[in-house]
Order: sequence, then structure tokens, then C-alpha cells
Amino acid sequence: FIMSTGSYVYFQFVQQWPPTTCRLSSKPSNQHRPLQRFTIHGLWPSNYSNPRKSSNCNGLQFDARKVSPRLRSKLKISWPNVESDNDTKFWEHEWNKHGTCSQETLNQTQFFERSHDMWMSYNITNILKNASIVPSATQKWKYSDIESPIKTATQRTPFLRCKRDPSHPNNSQLLHEVVICYDYKAKKQIDCNRTAGCWNNVDIKFE
Ligand code: 5GP
Ligand code: 5GP
Repeated sequence: FIMSTGSYVYFQFVQQWPPTTCRLSSKPSNQHRPLQRFTIHGLWPSNYSNPRKSSNCNGLQFDARKVSPRLRSKLKISWPNVESDNDTKFWEHEWNKHGTCSQETLNQTQFFERSHDMWMSYNITNILKNASIVPSATQKWKYSDIESPIKTATQRTPFLRCKRDPSHPNNSQLLHEVVICYDYKAKKQIDCNRTAGCWNNVDIKFE
């Protein structure tokens, strides 16, 4: 049971695999940065009945001056814009879309500091590598192959988000994002309730 008084009951902390983001991106590819490590996509206040919809998004709009030089240099590592070189624009988009809905828990500085700390707590890239799950153009995985090492490392159930594989839409899907979930206070990790994500019974490619 999760306590909350507001419009969301938990947070989805979403990390993306940049090569998949870039592959599916509609932005000019000469600006893409397909880094070979999981980076932050966002921290999304969510609820169980309608996870995609946030309400009470009445926080202040993004203010770049609130990003200190120290925080900025951290976010450049953990939360780069992988579709273009304008990191600030991506932070602004994410804050205005999701962060402004998380005001009951986090102000802008806390939202970004907390997200960076979450990213630091578990190195998804290494967790997968230690389970011999490394990018491959040919290998395919079952959902549980990828889920289980993350679950073991974090002691909580994550969930995986995939994109349709443009080259083999019926036979495989591309691993895109790993979601780990936090309570209403964005402090304690909780089991995710798998609301959406990868399709069942379709093999997953990580490349
Ligand atoms: P996608 O098309 O990748 O599933 O989602 C597009 C966007 O919708 C995401 O980047 C995110 O902003 C929003 N979104 C998707 N799923 C959720 C969710 O479960 N909760 C919230 N709050 N937003 C979501
Ligand atoms: P959402 O707005 O739904 O949180 O995130 C989805 C949007 O974020 C998509 O339009 C997608 O193109 C964008 N997105 C995902 N990763 C990145 C990124 O690294 N940089 C930028 N600018 N957009 C991204």
C-alpha cells in the first residue's frame, strides 16, 4: 500500500538505451549521440489507474538558472540529450512535461538531483554486462533474461519498454528503456507494476 495525498502515487524512473532512441528518432541523424550506456530519459510521476496521465501539473516552468554548474556537469553525464547536442532543451522538455506535475514531492533542483542520484545507484549497463547481456546484432533475449539480473541487483521488479524492430517488426523488438519505480516521496524503490512496455512473447534485441 502506498501513501499519497496527490495526483500521483509513485514515480517511474526511466533510463534509455541511446542507440535505440537514435534509431527510432525523427530528428536529423547527424546530431545523434548513440552512447553505449543507459542514460536518463525522465522521472515520471504516475498513478495506477491512468499511468500516462499526470494532473496537477502546475509547478513553475523550467528555469535554467536553477541548474547550478555542479548539477549541470553531473547531468551532462547522466542525462544527455542523445538526439541533439542541446542537453538543456531536453531537461526543459522533461521538467515542463513531467517535473511540473511532481511539485508535491520535488522542486526543480530536487527533481534533477534526485534523478541523478537514482542513476548513480544502479549501473544498468554494468548489471546487464555482468549477466553477459551485451549489445549484439544477432542475439535475441527473452523478457525474463533481461529483467532478472536487474531485479536481482535492485531487489525490486523493474519493467522494460521496447520499440518495434523496424527491420523485423514481427519477429523481434528492440530494448529501449528500463524503468525502475520509486514511492511517492521519490526515495524508496518499489516494485513496478508493469503497465506497458515490451510485448509478451516477442524476442528482444539489444543492439
Ligand atoms: P511512448 O510513446 O514512448 O510510450 O511514450 C511517449 C511519452 O509519453 C513518454 O516519453 C512519456 O512522456 C509519456 N509516457 C509514456 N508512458 C508513461 C507513463 O506510464 N507515465 C507517464 N507519466 N508518462 C508516460
Ligand atoms: P516524453 O516527452 O514523452 O517524456 O519523451 C518522449 C520525447 O522525448 C520524444 O519526443 C523523444 O524524441 C524525446 N526524447 C527521448 N530521448 C531524448 C533525448 O535524448 N533527447 C531529446 N531531445 N528528446 C528525447
